[in-house]
Amino acid sequence: MKKRIAIIEKEKCHPEECGDYLCAKLCPVNRTGNDCILPHEIHKKAKIDELLCTGCSICSNRCPFEAIQIINLPEALNKEPVHRYGENAFELFSLPTPIFGQVTGTLGKNGIGKTTALQILAGLLKPNLGRYGEEVDYKEIINYFKGTETQKFLMKLHLGEIKLSYKLQQVDLIPKQFQGTVRELLNKVDEKGKLEEVAKELQLTRFLDTEVGKISGGELQRVAIAASVLKKGNIYFFDEPTSYLDIKQRVNMSRFIRSLADEDTSVLVIEHDLIILDYMTDLLNIMYGQEGAYGIVSGVKNSREGINAFLEGFLKEENVRFRSHPIKFEKVQERQVGKVEKLISWNKLSKKLGNFLLEAEEGSLNKNEIIGVLGENGIGKTSFVKVLAGLVELDSGEIDSEVKVAYKPQYLETDSSELVMQYLDSAVENYQNQLITPLGVDKLMMKKLSELSGGELQKVSIVKCLSQEAELFLLDEPSAYLDVEQRLLISKVIKSLTAEREITVLVVDHDLMFLDYLSDRLVVFTGEPAKSGLLQGPFEMVDGMNLFLEELGISLRRDPHSHRPRINKVGSVKDREQRAEGKLYYN
Ligand code: ADP
Ligand code: SF4
Ligand code: SF4
Repeated sequence: MKKRIAIIEKEKCHPEECGDYLCAKLCPVNRTGNDCILPHEIHKKAKIDELLCTGCSICSNRCPFEAIQIINLPEALNKEPVHRYGENAFELFSLPTPIFGQVTGTLGKNGIGKTTALQILAGLLKPNLGRYGEEVDYKEIINYFKGTETQKFLMKLHLGEIKLSYKLQQVDLIPKQFQGTVRELLNKVDEKGKLEEVAKELQLTRFLDTEVGKISGGELQRVAIAASVLKKGNIYFFDEPTSYLDIKQRVNMSRFIRSLADEDTSVLVIEHDLIILDYMTDLLNIMYGQEGAYGIVSGVKNSREGINAFLEGFLKEENVRFRSHPIKFEKVQERQVGKVEKLISWNKLSKKLGNFLLEAEEGSLNKNEIIGVLGENGIGKTSFVKVLAGLVELDSGEIDSEVKVAYKPQYLETDSSELVMQYLDSAVENYQNQLITPLGVDKLMMKKLSELSGGELQKVSIVKCLSQEAELFLLDEPSAYLDVEQRLLISKVIKSLTAEREITVLVVDHDLMFLDYLSDRLVVFTGEPAKSGLLQGPFEMVDGMNLFLEELGISLRRDPHSHRPRINKVGSVKDREQRAEGKLYYN
């Protein structure tokens, strides 16, 4: 049985630029006359023979393009993979088990194989048991899972007794694939004849006759979910169903998705907003391993314990530590803010923008602080920042100065063939240590913007925004497409940069746990999207959260073990107690 795997990222391997297969020249096995590293017969990139490799890591340490990963597999992993994408490519070692009548979540880093695993369960990808390039007989595949629930499941899948409906991750791609109105799109897939009903439930009615290319990201997300539930199926699989949805919509969507599971229907979800994942699912599989290299699926756990185990980095039942440190979204120590220095203040403001009325109560922002912004989509957050930048003439009220603003929009442009290095320009020199290295963007420099995954593009856009010369920064939904660990990393980078440069950062986000961890104070927008928005605050965390949660009709408790916020079931004892005390949120 092989003990290690060698991964080569083909796009990163440039043999003609590293000194003619530098890795092969340095490999001790090659030096003894064996062919451990060779040029690939066809594409000429480096190729490693995993059986000859001794795992010395000289090649991975010395490759100038970081194209190689040499990974020693855990001892306990004494079996062949379920699937391997190709030679020196990602391997998947197990599969989650779909359970009928339940909503099962899959939690893990980006690139750990969640989509791969679920595509196999969906029958969209036929596993090869590690024998890439070979057509493996289905009987053999079923035999691999002998004696498990997965065996029964795959058997049914093979016999056509299971039909899956799938909501893909990047809803931004839909308008590129479909031209026509929302109604036309939904009509095409409506096998249940429930278009009107589902449209009403997911609040699509207002824009049913709008072109798909003209609706917002949050609307596209709801259309994509509607399309998948209108198809007949007994497995519904949602890959990140809440990106671009605001918190109210996330809570509603969670309830809707829960309602789909019954004795004949299983629901599978990938989601990185932990408060929502906790609320939406009954059970959880954790995926761990090494991103881009190999992935293993844990046994099924109840959602609360699963999320705590994931944060802890330790699986008790399997006795596996998959991360050396726990993830803590807790404010262990409040950030030391020295003398408070004001950046900008405003008195009662109002401004009519077309049909939209923006109003603000009196308030001010300080230097060296992070302000979380809570509010629905389309409620005036960007317009307010334009006011602070002096770009909008007010109908009444005033700001005491104008500030220079940098802005990261919610939706990110992906069509450009510009290289990341060109796009980031001076940031590459000036912010290497503060932004580029900590966020791992240095590895993306030679990629085109159009080749980046959602999460990679997000990180590049955050670097672009924060590297600008400005006093006030607005980050609109920086958590979208990032996994839990990346969200924590981004928070840390934003915190340290804010303190170092004494800047002010406004963070609009709908992941409450992320915002809870990141923010020093909160502003809250209330009103009606596209009609009117009222800004109140900044408030201290407890006051801001209370105001916001009151509007939302939910209360949050803290998990006693991990200290993370959890949504109370409406009407539960905790919910009623917290409401009676007027404490919808605890610090
Ligand atoms: P996740 O859903 O957890 O983010 P994925 O299942 O999408 O992870 O990917 C796991 C790994 O498999 C990644 O390194 C990815 O680059 C690789 N991968 C995904 N699809 C393919 C493919 N068709 N060919 C080769 N490698 C792939
Ligand atoms: Fe050169 Fe690195 Fe490719 Fe080896 S893996 S040939 S060192 S670029
Ligand atoms: Fe050769 Fe393996 Fe060492 Fe790389 S890790 S230099 S392939 S023996």
